[in-house]
Amino acid sequence: MPKIALLPGDGIGPEVTHAAVEVLKAADGVFGLGLEFETFPFGGNAIDAHGEPFPEITRKGCLEADAILLGAIGGPKWDNVPRPIRPETGLLALRKAHGLYANLRPAKVLPGLEHLSPLKPEIARGVDVLVIRELTGGIYFGEPRGMSEAEAWNTERYSKPEVERIARVAFEAARKRRGQVCSVDKANVLEVGEFWRKTVDEVHQDYPDVALEHQYVDAMAMHLVTRPSRFDVVVTGNIFGDILSDLASVLPGSLGLLPSASLGEKTPLFEPVHGSAPDIAGKGIANPTAAILSAAMLLTYALNRPEAARAIEAAVAQALRQNPTPDLGGTARTEAFTRQVVAALAQARVG
Ligand code: ATP
Repeated sequence: MPKIALLPGDGIGPEVTHAAVEVLKAADGVFGLGLEFETFPFGGNAIDAHGEPFPEITRKGCLEADAILLGAIGGPKWDNVPRPIRPETGLLALRKAHGLYANLRPAKVLPGLEHLSPLKPEIARGVDVLVIRELTGGIYFGEPRGMSEAEAWNTERYSKPEVERIARVAFEAARKRRGQVCSVDKANVLEVGEFWRKTVDEVHQDYPDVALEHQYVDAMAMHLVTRPSRFDVVVTGNIFGDILSDLASVLPGSLGLLPSASLGEKTPLFEPVHGSAPDIAGKGIANPTAAILSAAMLLTYALNRPEAARAIEAAVAQALRQNPTPDLGGTARTEAFTRQVVAALAQARVG
């Protein structure tokens, strides 16, 4: 019985997590997933109840789970608490506790929703790219680093095991998708890039069924705007991934549509890209799509049930075409939208 630790969090977090769980339960009914859920305090609500954002009970629950589904954390109420017990500090501690070194951010323009994209519809059509960013190495962590009156310095550094393991995540992900990986570096200027490219090539030997290409990061930035639909999995280091994943994330046209996954040494974590949206919390109008699609990623990457994930994605696309939430110009409230997704999934069973 796969165990899912639910960390609904703050703001709209509980509303969108509830929606995602409803959809997971419906998918369980169709696909026989045998899911078990347990909810834990995390973020601002955990500060209120336990005096810290990532209390022991949550640490233990997450380590014992097969996957973690997080809503969103934080809000103005906790903006002035001391840094060590801020909600965001809890998120960093959670990522560290599980050694989450790979961040997966898919950007998919759903059929019929091309008009939401800032790109021309003919360019946006068919975009379905997964950006995989190395999260725990590279220049954001490399030593030496420092600053004096006269200069400042940081170090871009990657070890072989660090590149190998993120390359494996990319090739494995491609096997669950369209079988193509594009590795992004700056091998024409940086030794780290040359090393990255050589190491990815070596790991590729184990994945002959996956097609591999390399791109320089500057060219890739252009391709993601001019020909985004030609890419499947894009893998890159921490700093380039930071930039390219944000670039890719605007392609679908709304923050409420973007899921994410973080994979690593222990329990994988799945969460919407958006924050706790305190301005609309409690109003029942949050778009649960990102949370529902994060739950679909959980089925693919934590439980290896891609067929159930695909059914959820199709049901979400149908519900979005039918009547989306107000942020996308529709009138469906969170609950009604979730019912639309569940109904579309039930049709999958009939069909
Ligand atoms: P954080 O720093 O936690 O990421 P933020 O304020 O930068 O927070 P969000 O909390 O994601 O970003 O909110 C940005 C805007 O997008 C807000 O106006 C919010 O209402 C809107 N928004 C975010 N997520 C959703 C959603 N799921 N449904 C509808 N609107 C959303």
